[in-house]
Amino acid sequence: MKKKECIFCLKKENEFVLENKLAAAFWDAHPVSKGHLLIITKEHKDNFFELDDAEVLAINSLLRAGKKMLLKKYQPAGFNIGINVGKTAGQTVMHCHIHLIPRYLGDVPDPRGGIRKMLPAAHK
Ligand code: AMP
Ligand code: ZN
Repeated sequence: MKKKECIFCLKKENEFVLENKLAAAFWDAHPVSKGHLLIITKEHKDNFFELDDAEVLAINSLLRAGKKMLLKKYQPAGFNIGINVGKTAGQTVMHCHIHLIPRYLGDVPDPRGGIRKMLPAAHK
């Protein structure tokens, strides 16, 4: 089911760069790196833990297809895959989405730790 006034439920097919029966991918409107993709469920689910197994598989399939497409298009050297669940964890759009973020050599001075560095304690 779609949810009224949810910006991701309002996404149109012509914005999808990849899709299958249960999931779709589109470019993040404010990319943190070149090629930042978001993968969503077509049905409205508030967060990742609400997905059923078929949706998880559909998302996984688009993660793989997205990786392949991004490697061909932009030749990144690595990826971060991230899911924010809940406002406290930083989720701002309450429709399940997975960030697929390509990473490039030298994009930060010291990449060690990746997403582990999101909390200040990791910087000590
Ligand atoms: P999060 O903070 O994990 O909820 O991520 C929400 C993401 O959605 C952010 O990276 C935003 O840049 C992105 N975003 C917000 N609105 C749109 C939109 N209309 N189309 C594409 N991406 C969007
Ligand atoms: Zn929605």
